Amino acid sequence: MAVDPLIELRDVNKYYGELHVLQDIDLTVGKGEVVVVIGPSGSGKSTLCRTINRLETIRSGSIRLDGKPLPEEGRALAQLRAEVGMVFQSFNLFAHKTVLQNVSLAQVKVRKRKKNEADKRSRELLDRVGLAAHADKFPAQLSGGQQQRVAIARALAMDPKALLFDEPTSALDPEMINEVLEVMQQLAHDGMTMVVVTHEMGFARTAADRVVFMADGRVVEDRAPEDFFTHPESERARDFLSKIL
Ligand code: ADP
Ligand code: MG
Repeated sequence: MAVDPLIELRDVNKYYGELHVLQDIDLTVGKGEVVVVIGPSGSGKSTLCRTINRLETIRSGSIRLDGKPLPEEGRALAQLRAEVGMVFQSFNLFAHKTVLQNVSLAQVKVRKRKKNEADKRSRELLDRVGLAAHADKFPAQLSGGQQQRVAIARALAMDPKALLFDEPTSALDPEMINEVLEVMQQLAHDGMTMVVVTHEMGFARTAADRVVFMADGRVVEDRAPEDFFTHPESERARDFLSKIL
């Protein structure tokens, strides 16, 4: 790979009790790369995202971010969480805070920005995700697609080195999926490093540099999207694609 690695997993193993949920995972995400992770339900995709963000601990192996091992705890861990933003299926906005407050809050608490600086940055980001006019509304006054775009703006407000998306459009009504994918496409185009778990194969084909196919806790294929979709190598991937395409 020509680009510098940003996220590197080497021989990562994780268990939930007896369940070997991540098995010998080797994965490198280069700076500016977009990696789409697909695979059957229960294959370990969410666990992989949570592991990269140290929301989960691992049994063995190593994870590096920008050349440095992931911190175990304390301030360094909080810093890591700010450097690797995460966007979930459920938007997890604070219901009793306005859109602007939702985007500004962690900037003040974690990034130690002054409130007016944070609000200025929030308004820029809300403009970038097409929500400048909605800054003073509450989450419940927005559609699901709009709420997810607020969640993306909030993640961007930390100036993350990478963003992880775990099925960001799965909870949305069909007519709202594209507005979120378009924001993600734009981020990809602007050079953000992204790991995206999604069932949106159109997004995978157009935005991904690589597709990682997982099954039973393993990375089964890791290839350019066109190769993967036209010539899946494994039986598991062929089977999976035949069900969703
Ligand atoms: P995916 O996101 O690909 O659907 P997950 O990473 O959510 O898969 O789950 C992988 C496996 O780990 C599944 O068998 C799931 O039931 C199990 N699992 C996930 N979270 C936990 C947990 N907190 N405790 C025990 N088992 C879990
Ligand atoms: Mg999942």
